[in-house]
Amino acid sequence: MEDDKMKCKFCHTMIDKGVAVCYNCNSDVVYGITKQELFEVSRSSAMWFGGLSAFIIYILPEYSNMDLIVPGFGLGFYSIILVVASGLYGSHLARQNKIIEKQGSIRFFRKGRIY
Ligand SMILES: [Zn+2]
Repeated sequence: MEDDKMKCKFCHTMIDKGVAVCYNCNSDVVYGITKQELFEVSRSSAMWFGGLSAFIIYILPEYSNMDLIVPGFGLGFYSIILVVASGLYGSHLARQNKIIEKQGSIRFFRKGRIY
């Protein structure tokens, strides 16, 4: 069955779908998202969402003309929970998006070695 095979990006050997390494050139075969990509997207989106909510909660009220809105939304120290929660939530959403985006993709990576 031709469908069960795929071509290695580096050495062009036909290999079975599902294998973790190319048996000819030893490059890694990655299905979907990599751990590194997952880590990167989690970290950057947590920083973005956390930073954005910190801005809205602490900085924006200082410059708004609405006296009703006070920095920290009047929650004092506990307003940090809003920042952390939005960071975690944003990170979760971004991770799900990235996983879906990379779903079904098959990529080849050379191991640390340079040929
Ligand atoms: Zn190969």
